[in-house]
Amino acid sequence: MGLTVHDLTVRYGSLTAVSAVDLSVPDGSVLALLGPSGCGKSTLLRAVAGLEPPTTGRVCWDGADLAGVPVHRREFGLVFQDGQLLPHRNVAGNVAFGLRMRGVDRAARRERVAELLELVGLDGYEARRSTELSGGEQQRVALARALAPHPRLLLLDEPLSALDRALREQLAMDLARVLAGTTALVVTHDHDEAFTLADRVAVMRAGRLVQTGPPAEVWRSPVDEDTARFLGCGAFVPATVHGGVATCELGSVELPWAQSGSVLLGLRPSALRPAASGLKGEVVQRIHRRDHVRLRVRLESGREVDAVAGVLDTASAVTLALDPDGVALVSRRG
Ligand code: ADP
Repeated sequence: MGLTVHDLTVRYGSLTAVSAVDLSVPDGSVLALLGPSGCGKSTLLRAVAGLEPPTTGRVCWDGADLAGVPVHRREFGLVFQDGQLLPHRNVAGNVAFGLRMRGVDRAARRERVAELLELVGLDGYEARRSTELSGGEQQRVALARALAPHPRLLLLDEPLSALDRALREQLAMDLARVLAGTTALVVTHDHDEAFTLADRVAVMRAGRLVQTGPPAEVWRSPVDEDTARFLGCGAFVPATVHGGVATCELGSVELPWAQSGSVLLGLRPSALRPAASGLKGEVVQRIHRRDHVRLRVRLESGREVDAVAGVLDTASAVTLALDPDGVALVSRRG
């Protein structure tokens, strides 16, 4: 059954950090709690861990209320943003820490440590001092340490956000592989990370869960404009869907999964791309990103739109068409 949270509220004085949250993390699944900084994600995770007492509501494992069960008896593994390794212990000592606490004997500890270091890509690192590790290596050790005692739930609070971007992307892929099949709750403000790591995403805003669903569903159908904006949509246009094709003032786009009717489309910058036919316009700004160029284009109608082009695309006059990958269906209207 796994983790269930019922009607959980956490207040700090007059501030309500978490408000009437219901969620579940079934056994063997990974849920990402995604939202802007300050929306209450960490507070919710800390309440699940037992580090923060709920003001009202319940945290349950397999249906049993965990109120009164202290942090170290919940059998949850914790990973924080900055590893929090024990500085006076080497890597093996850090990974084995929870095992020692549980009275696991030396030979079994050594075997489990080696197994986990291999899993996180650090085989042979046993004797390294934890103070001599890079940020990415420290997070890998923190993950190995949290996994060592076979926790029934892994709680990760922004596990990658202290790392630089290239490392973060690599570690996100590795973490996705390690988490597959485990039961985990991951807190992040980064939607790429949430979608890489999780089977389901729960979007949080101002203490409340506003949408929960599989990554693809949340990405293509954000529940409202604020959620769509948080997920990268910079512009919105009304459209009509008929037979899986949405038509708006910028053209038509195939959205086979969309039901017919009046809708609001959210456009990410990649919603418009150069094409053989479509809207003609003049490039007024060009910004190089890693593997593409972000364009600001003034259309013949006078309207300015964002678009994405290849880095070799340097023409000042462009023809743009809608690309379904950049289009979200925000809501149905009427
Ligand atoms: P997030 O993890 O989404 O960034 P937090 O859960 O850390 O958000 O914080 C939610 C809100 O609760 C914020 O307004 C924050 O300032 C406040 N808050 C967090 N921890 C405490 C605390 N220990 N005491 C008082 N206010 C807190």
